[in-house]
Amino acid sequence: MAEKESQDPSETHAQEHPLMCKIHALMPIEVTCEDCEEFICSDCVKESHKDHNWQTIQTAAANRRRGLKRSLTLIEENGIQRIDRKAKRASEVMKENEKRCETEVFRLQKHFDAIVEKLDIIRKRHEATLKDKLESKNAEINKIRSSMERKKNDIFQLVESIRENTSTMTDISLIKIHRELTKLLSSEVADIVGDSLYFLRHEGGVIDDAILASMMGTCFCAELEDPCMGMNYDNKTCLLKKKTMNK
Ligand SMILES: [Zn+2]
Ligand SMILES: [Zn+2]
Repeated sequence: MAEKESQDPSETHAQEHPLMCKIHALMPIEVTCEDCEEFICSDCVKESHKDHNWQTIQTAAANRRRGLKRSLTLIEENGIQRIDRKAKRASEVMKENEKRCETEVFRLQKHFDAIVEKLDIIRKRHEATLKDKLESKNAEINKIRSSMERKKNDIFQLVESIRENTSTMTDISLIKIHRELTKLLSSEVADIVGDSLYFLRHEGGVIDDAILASMMGTCFCAELEDPCMGMNYDNKTCLLKKKTMNK
């Protein structure tokens, strides 16, 4: 309706060059019928627009001007209030973040401590395993060492007896003892030196940065992708969002 009016020359030029009614000769157009959206004369009001909602053009325009001012003021006030609300919310978010930073850092520390605690349990388990194994491994090695000692003594005794009794020994005895000695010397002795079978060992796993980082979690420090800072404004009321959307 507004467009129609502004395009209608009768509005802007009515005062300077009054238009005449096409139905009633010599009657100037000075009334607007709101129901028909037509400009009419005072005779039309009594005839074809009887009981219609009409106003003089002057009054209708004055009403509209007044209404327009009021609605512009309303828009202005609402807009300012909305910005005020957002600015207030922004300050609140900053304060919230200051508080949150502390609690979040505390939570991070707790999470870290929990990981370290679990790691420590695993470390202790490995430590216990190593100590357990130390006993059994060393018992095994000790058995081998004892057998070496026994062998050494046997050899030593045989050598001694040959040395002492060479003159009195019968040929048969000499051959027997010599054979025994050769047998002892040729028999294998477990080689513990350099045999990893007898070593206690812990092999460290891979220290993977990505795995460690995933264990530590993620910080959601929003980069203000949402200019409304998570406020529940719809697209109509959020000016900032509207602006970005129009770009
Ligand atoms: Zn008329
Ligand atoms: Zn009418």
